[in-house]
Amino acid sequence: MKEVNLDKNSNFSEWYNNIVRISKIIDDRYPVKGMPVYYPNGYFAIRKILSILEDELEKNGFEPYWFPILIPYDIFKRESEHIKGFESEVFYVTPSKPIEEEKEIKYILRPTSETEMYYMFSLWIKSYRDLPLLTYMTNTVYRYETKATKPLIRGREILWNEAHTVHKDLDDTERMIKKSMEIYSKVFWDHLSIPHIWVRRPDWDKFAGADYTLAADTILPDGRFLQIGTTHLLGRNFSKAFNIIFEDEHPFIKIDKNKFEAFNENNYRYEIEIIENKIKIRLYNNNELIKSYEGNIEFNGEISEDNKDLINKISDIIKNKFNENKLINKKFAWQTSFGISMRTLSAVISIHGDNKGLILPFEISNIQIIIIPIYYSEDEKNKILEYCEKVYNLLKEKYRVRIDKDETKSPGWKFNQYELLGVPFRISIGKKELENNTVTISIRQYNNKSKNYEVKLENLLNELNKLIVEYDKEIKERARKYFENKILKLDNLKDLENNLDKNIAFKVPFCMREECAKNIKEKYSLDVRGTDIIPEEAKDKKCIFCNKDAKYYVYIGKSY
Ligand SMILES: [Zn+2]
Repeated sequence: MKEVNLDKNSNFSEWYNNIVRISKIIDDRYPVKGMPVYYPNGYFAIRKILSILEDELEKNGFEPYWFPILIPYDIFKRESEHIKGFESEVFYVTPSKPIEEEKEIKYILRPTSETEMYYMFSLWIKSYRDLPLLTYMTNTVYRYETKATKPLIRGREILWNEAHTVHKDLDDTERMIKKSMEIYSKVFWDHLSIPHIWVRRPDWDKFAGADYTLAADTILPDGRFLQIGTTHLLGRNFSKAFNIIFEDEHPFIKIDKNKFEAFNENNYRYEIEIIENKIKIRLYNNNELIKSYEGNIEFNGEISEDNKDLINKISDIIKNKFNENKLINKKFAWQTSFGISMRTLSAVISIHGDNKGLILPFEISNIQIIIIPIYYSEDEKNKILEYCEKVYNLLKEKYRVRIDKDETKSPGWKFNQYELLGVPFRISIGKKELENNTVTISIRQYNNKSKNYEVKLENLLNELNKLIVEYDKEIKERARKYFENKILKLDNLKDLENNLDKNIAFKVPFCMREECAKNIKEKYSLDVRGTDIIPEEAKDKKCIFCNKDAKYYVYIGKSY
């Protein structure tokens, strides 16, 4: 076998490209660019990550759906921003001999499932009683990547889970956005020990068709950002394009923190603004102001669609002051969508792995425990293999365990091999263990640290329980330390330039102009990733790139 570079620190990119192949995550010799084949060591971990996510979603009231892989092009193109965002990346599907009624129809492979799902949502949703609708789908989506592809990170076939929700009002929609972040962070950090930050993407970088996009970013050892999850507040952009309309209990629609709107039968629009105890109401026909009213309003509770007291009072004012009796209760629904993909595994590999190979959280390892028999004679062999079976039977109900009986490989070779594959625990059984009625457990730990534990067979399950907790804790602790110094906060360009080769990312004061972001990309190859979820203000600071007044601190760095 050719010598491969497994020095993670000297060349991370090369390490990554080697490790995903030799540790049996993927085989990219399959002759379609960006579509590798996944080995069990990789596919099992991806499937497990997605199933952890599915469990979390289901605990929160989501249900699984399946939608077809083909989308008719005329459905796909209904939301205009959405199609602009994806058009250059879609695969068209044409039958070799279409039947007469399909001659004019163009199909695409789904690049994401908003449009096909929302076509059906418009048929399903009729009343506020149908909401919220909480759906998810674990599937594959297809994007025609032309840039260099990278296993698990950038490819043409994406294995992922996408969730889509429909709500009756903005408040409920925003609660779902928060919930989606909680669910994702639980998967990333609690289960997989991937450190990450949540970032509000700048407007020019949001999902096509969304009001805004929040993203979970981690940072790989080369200092580059990797987006591992996104959640989009779609607002009513898709419901308007797809006619997802429901009958509500009242006509008022909260459109901002302190603003409602409502429509009458002639499609005239009431805009209602509440500031403390003042209420302003304006009536528009298209953009023409027809009538306005200002007055006082006393009410209890929050400014929300669920506040019956407030809603009744607004309703009365409109009846009395505008003589209005024909407000309509039909509303466009509010929506979110969010997704995470097999990229999550690339973060696990990149952040936890070392020069000996993969290190996987116990929960997602395809093989959790490998039993390796060690013997030197035929007579020993039978007894030791028999003992191995006994240990195997003890463990198999609870753990994913194998015995490696391959006689063509030495125990030493096997030790290295299973460390490369990232198997968390190795149990070796030889003459000594047989005689003492014990096993020797070794933990897959970092670099050259090695700890062996000789454990009595009757204590094995108990001991393993403790060691597994320790094993995962060490992964988490190490990841926490790793991330501590990955983002440097700076206020001037000189400091940034001096740190460009340090494999880290930055947080800097920024003017929030797209043009400035483009210049930065050109000059430094750095991407403006966005602000904190609640943006950190940079009052009295200058944008470190253009010297105009800064608005917020943004995260900035190279990215995948
Ligand atoms: Zn600027």
